[in-house]
Amino acid sequence: DVPLEVFRRVVENVPTAISVTDAHANILYVNPAFVNVSGYALADVMGKNESILSYKATPQTVYRDLWSTITEGRTWTGRLVNKRKDGGRYLAELTVVPVRREDGAISHYLGMHRDVSEMH
Ligand code: FAD
Repeated sequence: DVPLEVFRRVVENVPTAISVTDAHANILYVNPAFVNVSGYALADVMGKNESILSYKATPQTVYRDLWSTITEGRTWTGRLVNKRKDGGRYLAELTVVPVRREDGAISHYLGMHRDVSEMH
């Protein structure tokens, strides 16, 4: 068995931006890589909606596709235009994984993204 403390250190050291939200995309946790990529401090994003990252340049159809996929309990991967705290724009490759309670209801979402601006 891997101790919980090891899981915590794994998440805190992984070079992928990780966030955990409630069922409405309000942020409950972000890892240090998220702070690095987005430029936001922990205190800036706690309790805020993930839409704080939106550059408002991604077509609504992308968000509709994201939400219809994840609310059905499936994993979504796609590319969004995100905005850093300093206003800088980056292309994010985002994966959102629904997290279910034992009764099957979706209680949280896991977000994982990286800056792929240089890769296209
Ligand atoms: P919204 O008001 O969010 O609406 C956009 C569309 O999504 C609408 O069609 C609306 O009907 C639909 N929608 C919104 N909320 C719900 C809901 N609770 N249930 C069903 N449908 C809904 N966005 C980014 O721009 N960048 C990110 O990095 C990012 N990461 C995310 C990570 C996670 C884990 C999750 C769950 C969401 C993430 N989002 C991200 C999506 C974000 O929460 C917003 O939906 C998005 O930014 C659009 O915001 P908006 O205010 O423009 O529109």
